[in-house]
Amino acid sequence: MKTKEQNKEVGILMKDFISSTVDFYNHMESGPVFRPAGKECLAGLNDQSIPHKGRPLKDVYKEMLEKVYASTLLGQHPRSFACVPSTASLLSWMGDIMTNAWNPHASCTVNAPAANLIEKKLIRWMCGLAGFPKESGGLFVSGGSIANLTALTAARDAKLSHEEYSKGMVYVSDQTHSSVVKGLHIIGFSKDQIRVIPSDALFAMDISVLKAAIIKDINAHKKPFAVIASAGTTNTGSVDPLPQIAALCREYDLWMHVDGAYGASALLSDQYRKNLSGISLSDSLSWDAHKWLLQTYGCSVVLVRDQSCLVHSFSAHPEYLKDAQSSADSVEFWDLGPELTRPARSLKLWLTLQAMGTDAMEKIIDHGCALAQLAQRLISQSPDWEIVSPAQLGIINFRYISHRQLSPRELDRINQNIAREITQSGFAQIFTTELCGKKVLRMCTIHPETTEQDIYDTIRFLKNTDTVKESSLTARTA
Ligand SMILES: *Cc1c(COP(=O)(O)O)cnc(C)c1O
Repeated sequence: MKTKEQNKEVGILMKDFISSTVDFYNHMESGPVFRPAGKECLAGLNDQSIPHKGRPLKDVYKEMLEKVYASTLLGQHPRSFACVPSTASLLSWMGDIMTNAWNPHASCTVNAPAANLIEKKLIRWMCGLAGFPKESGGLFVSGGSIANLTALTAARDAKLSHEEYSKGMVYVSDQTHSSVVKGLHIIGFSKDQIRVIPSDALFAMDISVLKAAIIKDINAHKKPFAVIASAGTTNTGSVDPLPQIAALCREYDLWMHVDGAYGASALLSDQYRKNLSGISLSDSLSWDAHKWLLQTYGCSVVLVRDQSCLVHSFSAHPEYLKDAQSSADSVEFWDLGPELTRPARSLKLWLTLQAMGTDAMEKIIDHGCALAQLAQRLISQSPDWEIVSPAQLGIINFRYISHRQLSPRELDRINQNIAREITQSGFAQIFTTELCGKKVLRMCTIHPETTEQDIYDTIRFLKNTDTVKESSLTARTA
């Protein structure tokens, strides 16, 4: 088929795709959270190979719709409370489709002047929200993991000479996201160069243990160089004591990185911004727009207090890029991070913010926090349930404890079954996590379309699962 004819068919199919998808999204809440791929469906896909001769586009399209996209876990469902659910707005989706269609090469200003201007403006705006000075900067990256990796590289290069790498020590908490340890491994640090500081009753880093660990390492002639604080941990939404960590970092000349992949979006809320105070004192910050700023995946930022630190770590000037550089001393996005070719990830966020405004975004943050507090109130009403970590930035952890002394292992098993039961029912999705060695149920309630009724119904569902009924029955007869 000629390309132009094929393009026409693409246009027709895409129109169908867009209208049917919008329709699906508009009715999603009445359907199940999980649409599992049947074994047959996966086996069928597995049997397919890459054909020598192309197939009719319509068939391929239909197959993709029915077999691939239709069988996913709907993290974007309003009763998906597992992980950090996808809150992606159709506005972001629209920006994504438009950006992908034009496919700008967002590496440098010559290639995509308007897209890069927008990226710079968003970075400025986000640095402003973080309270960073005017030398600050950053860039959009694919996710919090890469944002952390980028910041950790800058931290290493700012604080250690190459000869000192093997003595370098970095401090995380027992609640720090796994991507930090992964990133440290990638940039050359071994496990024994990472000190895991215990967290307190609210799962925030214990500052006195941190201080003692730093002093001990200095006395042992090691070279402490960075503390990784969290602003909204993935497990519990906890925020580490940022002002105190900043003071220690200043005292011992350490880089302070804040992993705000989840929680930094609370900077948009008048009510919750104060929970993050001290963030402005950090050297770098990770912030996922694909978590609480309603973006589709692949949209995150890394911000640094002094942009020249990123240039120091990442700048390279090969001969084949000279014509694409605005001027001999211009700083391009390729100078700030590991990527050269990169999509214009900022455009969908720009489109979303332009269409919504920050007031609406602020309401969504407040709404997510309020729903976790509502869940907490409802759970606390039953003596059979315990709150393990109270509502913090839209996340709550709790568990069924029954009215009888069951063994810890028995309780773990029961809570695992409760999570499995509600998720398999399709009504809502809840996963377990582990806190203080116990299996707990974790809910992250940040989806903008989740209603109070959804929370009432979900908690009622949990309390009425067969697992709970059976265990209370055995408790009574025992
Ligand atoms: C999600 C998360 C990450 C990882 O971000 P990705 O976008 O999944 O790579 C890192 N840190 C925290 C605190 C997170 O919640």
